[in-house]
Amino acid sequence: MTQPSAPPILDGHEDFLTAMVRQQRDFLSESATGHVDLPRAQRGGLGGTFVSVFLTNEQAELNATGAAIQQIDRFYDLCERSQGKVRLVRTVADLDAAWAASAFAGILHFEGADPISPSLKELRLFYQGGLRSLGIVWSRPNAFASGVSLRGPSPTTGLSERGYALVEQCQRLGIVLDVSHLNPEGFWDLVRVIDRPFIASHSNAAALSPHPRNLTDEQIRAIAEKDGTIGITFCCAFVRPDCALNPDTPLELVLAHFEHIIRLVGDRHVAIGSDFDGATMPRALADAAALPALVEAFERRGWSSERIERVCFGNFRRVLAAVWR
Ligand SMILES: [Zn+2]
Repeated sequence: MTQPSAPPILDGHEDFLTAMVRQQRDFLSESATGHVDLPRAQRGGLGGTFVSVFLTNEQAELNATGAAIQQIDRFYDLCERSQGKVRLVRTVADLDAAWAASAFAGILHFEGADPISPSLKELRLFYQGGLRSLGIVWSRPNAFASGVSLRGPSPTTGLSERGYALVEQCQRLGIVLDVSHLNPEGFWDLVRVIDRPFIASHSNAAALSPHPRNLTDEQIRAIAEKDGTIGITFCCAFVRPDCALNPDTPLELVLAHFEHIIRLVGDRHVAIGSDFDGATMPRALADAAALPALVEAFERRGWSSERIERVCFGNFRRVLAAVWR
């Protein structure tokens, strides 16, 4: 880290695995496109992230498992080439060791369980390969649940029988469950059966931005009751009251989502979930190198250093420690 005094940031959601291919760039060298790469992460005090494996509709339909394996292999390759500067972390000890060595910590995450068959036959294999966080659905239905639609009304079906089996197996193995993108029916089904903390890796407060991807106050309370954590996303549409994809979105509006959740349930249940490389960013948080502007905004609001540490990494770390084995 270039700023050893600042706490490292652990980000709930980034899509660089797919963005690197689309934009033909390498995570290890600084680029003028996209939102995150290692040099910009180091400059911004970003110590790691949930690394999202994301499939297009076509990939999900044709060969979801194969496409996921290809993306995981791309991350392994990146770690290898980085010579220890980027690491796949599987335990909290790995995470702490990565930070002690000023390395970038990657937590392998699936944004949608499409690569896993209804029989769950690939789940243990993916776990062995490093999978430690799972969003049951992206914004398209799969065998397990239905997501919030990006266009039009969302399906109103909750978890399927296989969805409940998936939740049970993830709890048994020690895989964190992520409810961002899950529809409300699936959310409440999950809440009824889960006995571990869970996360919303990149979702905001619907009270401030009434987008269906955001969380109602009741959902925020339910996450807090299970001692989970919500990553505030910078995605303009989920920040703004008008839900517009407008990069002219002031930092204060992003800050308001953190403070809404803190007012509602305290500062143990909110973190950062940027969605770098997966969404339109506000100009003030244009890329990972701009993260110090957010930490400075926390300081200007008079937050204690304990609160800033919780929000920057402590709350996600606590959930990982409670769920991982
Ligand atoms: Zn997403």
